[in-house]
This record gives sequence, structure tokens and C-alpha cells, in this order.
Amino acid sequence: TVEATGVEKWFGSMQVLKGVSLNVRRGEVVVIVGASGSGKTTFVRCINHLEKIQNGRIRVNGHLIGYREKKGRLVEDSERNIARQRRDIGMVFQRFNLFPHLSALGNIIEAPTQVLGIDPATARREAMALLARVGLEQKADSYPAQLSGGQQQRVAIARALAMKPTLMLFDEPTSALDPEMVGEVLEVMKELARDGMTMIVVTHEMGFAREVADRVVMMDDGLVVEEAAPEIFFTAPRSERSKAFLARVS
Ligand code: ATP
Repeated sequence: TVEATGVEKWFGSMQVLKGVSLNVRRGEVVVIVGASGSGKTTFVRCINHLEKIQNGRIRVNGHLIGYREKKGRLVEDSERNIARQRRDIGMVFQRFNLFPHLSALGNIIEAPTQVLGIDPATARREAMALLARVGLEQKADSYPAQLSGGQQQRVAIARALAMKPTLMLFDEPTSALDPEMVGEVLEVMKELARDGMTMIVVTHEMGFAREVADRVVMMDDGLVVEEAAPEIFFTAPRSERSKAFLARVS
């Protein structure tokens, strides 16, 4: 579960998150939509402390992320604790950022063996199962440069899953892909959702939001302006901002 309350974030003198609150239950798929620059990416990056926050609290599975509370104030946590908190949180970025010098299999077993200390044989077996799950068993020995963007992104998803996260964050996972590869990545994400993974997905793919989201969260100018089930959000949005946004994207 994720509980974010009153999250505020500045880049210098510019406030990009103005008090974002969001709760995500176990097994829920929340899709965050909103205009460019509304703060979607920044917010998901805050959830695993890739960005510092200046106010508010983010808890994942009950643990405060990135900070300790000291006399009611936030003090940044140690690198070690932050690394531990991140283990449960998988993240898939817009750019696939696989390790270029490792094969698909190598990319997937890297963290389980190095960070969790899983023995290589077990890690390999699990990695092959994950490659099968994303439809890439035959590409185990291929290097990122030999894979298409869609295939690289599926490996990136498998790599994140190898750490057995309880939460998966997706930051515009299909935005950098050629159109013909978007579907294969969304399909893998749909499967994951069907299997009960807790997911927060920033995307401009409204079809995915409509079909897969349990809840759509609309951000505008650093705030959540609407949260609704997709069947309501896409047919009868309440806020003027949502209406204007939907008129632009559909
Ligand atoms: P998009 O859909 O275009 O990705 P977004 O809703 O994800 O947009 P963010 O990327 O979170 O928006 O950006 C929110 C605001 O913060 C923007 O005005 C952006 O220019 C600014 N911003 C983001 N990252 C930084 C940074 N590292 N330094 C300074 N400003 C930043």
C-alpha cells in the first residue's frame, strides 16, 4: 500500500508538487494522467525517493520513505535505509536504461544476486521464468543493443520483477517507443495487473487507463484535481480541468 499525504516539492524556487495526497491499496492499479508539466513524473519519483520532498509524508507498506521523523520534522534517512526501502519498489522508466554490457538474462539476475545474495543458479531459473512471462525466453543471451525498444522495455519490467517488489511504479513506460511496440509492453503490464500487482502508472495511453485502471488520478499544476473509476472519469469527469484535458487527448 502507498499512503502519500501533503507531498510538496520544489525545484529551486518553483513548486512542482503543491500538496499531493494519494492512497493506493494492495492490488490496486492507479493510473496518473494530466497535462505535461503537471508533476506526474516528479510525484512517482518521490515515491521511491529518487526526488527529495520538502513537505508531507510518503509511506509504502507502512514505512516512511526517504526520511525519519525527528521531533515532528523530516530528516533524510541514510543511504542504506533508503536502499532497503527501495527493494520492495520496482520502477520502470520511460527510457529502458538496461545495463548495455549485460545480456537480458544478466540484467535480470544482477540485483537478485548482488543485492539479495540469491545463488546464481536460482536467480537464473527465476530470470528465465520472468523472461517467459514477458515473452522473451529466446532473447536471454541478447544484449540491449540487439533488442527492439519494446523488447528492452519488457526486459526492464522483468528486471524490476526479479526483486519481487510489492509495488511497481511505471513512469511513461511507452512514451519513448515506436508506436508498433507500445502494445506489447502494455500487454505485459495488463498481465501484471491481472496477477494482482499493486501498480502506479503514469501514462498518456488513455486506452490502457480505461481498460486496466481501478482508479484514474488526474494531476494538474502540482495537485490531484480528480480521482475516479475510469468509467466515471472518461464519461463524466467532475472537474473543469479534467474535462479540458480529456477534450485535448481524445
Ligand atoms: P510530462 O507528462 O511532460 O512528463 P509531468 O506531469 O510528468 O510532465 P514533471 O516531469 O513532473 O511533469 O515536471 C513538473 C515540473 O517540474 C515541470 O515544470 C518541469 O519542468 C519541472 N522539473 C522536472 N524535473 C526538474 C528538475 N530536475 N529540475 C528543475 N525542474 C524540473
